[in-house]
Amino acid sequence: MTGAWLGVIADDVTGACDLAGGVAEAGVPTSVHLGVPEPGDEGGGDCVVVALKTRTVDPADAVARSTAAAAWLRSQGAELIYQKYCSTFDSTDRGNIGPVADALVADGGITVGTPATPAAGRTQYLGHLFVGERLLSESPMRDHPLTPMRDSDLVAVLSRQTTGRVALVPLPVVRSGAAAAEIDAHFAAGARHLLVDAIDDADLDALAAALDDVRTPVVLGGGAGLALALARHRRSNSFPAAKPIPPGGARLILSGSASERTREQVAAFGGTTVRVDPLVLARDGDSALLAEVRASLAAAGEDPVLVSATADPGRVRSTQEALGVEAAAELLESTLARVAVLAVAELGVRRLLVAGGETSGAAVAALGLRRLAVGALAAPGVPWTTGTATAVPGTPTVALLLKSGNFGEPDLFDTAWRSAP
Ligand code: ADP
Repeated sequence: MTGAWLGVIADDVTGACDLAGGVAEAGVPTSVHLGVPEPGDEGGGDCVVVALKTRTVDPADAVARSTAAAAWLRSQGAELIYQKYCSTFDSTDRGNIGPVADALVADGGITVGTPATPAAGRTQYLGHLFVGERLLSESPMRDHPLTPMRDSDLVAVLSRQTTGRVALVPLPVVRSGAAAAEIDAHFAAGARHLLVDAIDDADLDALAAALDDVRTPVVLGGGAGLALALARHRRSNSFPAAKPIPPGGARLILSGSASERTREQVAAFGGTTVRVDPLVLARDGDSALLAEVRASLAAAGEDPVLVSATADPGRVRSTQEALGVEAAAELLESTLARVAVLAVAELGVRRLLVAGGETSGAAVAALGLRRLAVGALAAPGVPWTTGTATAVPGTPTVALLLKSGNFGEPDLFDTAWRSAP
């Protein structure tokens, strides 16, 4: 029994790292488990995060994996369960935020969540989510390949995903210090899910403190912001030792994200770029691509090489029309995952930067990573991590930077290596 107090179920691996990096930096020892752990697996740290890949899978599958993760986290002593979703509330009307939230309070209680993560420019006001200065529905998220977000009213969005009643805790209530009483009152009145306004860290800190006084059993939810506020509220001081990783070795960047910021990062990258065209892959297979990756990494020595499927929204749409949305995503994710395995198994790569949540999930699964130790931040929300690649002969330790599509400065692909283990 580790006595972890915070047990997090994340719907993608970059979101898991975003949250884990911030919580670890706040002084809370944290580990990330990749996939639903085995019953006998040990947690590790005061905050234990289970990274799933459930954002876009079938809702029943997302529910099954999330409830199994919650059961394991509770077996590790987790007092608080936290459903981590994207700070842009990435989901469709089928789910999976609503169905998973329903399942996590199936035995009673209420979910209390907010995607607000002010450090990343995500704020919620009167139930509406803002990305920087724009409403969610007017942000680049409206064109996400898998979860286009075209409604900023999160009470409405979540209501379409659940049969439970969704209610709002508005900003004036948070700021007046009445949030705990309001949460209990909503539960008594039959609400199952609450979305809480927050536009700065002080609002999240007020919510984190108010939770101590809530009498209703609560499952928390949200982006990284609320978890960071919980960590600040309940700080502890010892860091876990990072696993050593030998110096040197080749470096690889895999980009399967079509997000606007990733497009800027791909354009700004100063090194060798190998382009991945899904239409060519569908027609000719991946042998030419793998040969090009081999040659480029050999020529680059220890300089990073970028393997990129990143494309603008028009090109993504035409590819999806030609191949189907799911087939195009599956083809790219499985191909980039094969590139990761080839690079680590045969080409000496020990440091990898992966852009894209779905893409990162595919890569860590193919490499056989089960648990990540969380280290230094390369950018807000993007910590370097280390783990053991159990699916690769020799089970090497690798360093990974798993970056959500919209995170990091435009020059991240060149600068991230400075903080690498
Ligand atoms: P992000 O973190 O930016 O959301 P993800 O990796 O989670 O990135 O999601 C992007 C999805 O879009 C992936 O499933 C990826 O395979 C798919 N995708 C990326 N590039 C293309 C493209 N050129 N054509 C079609 N689909 C693409």
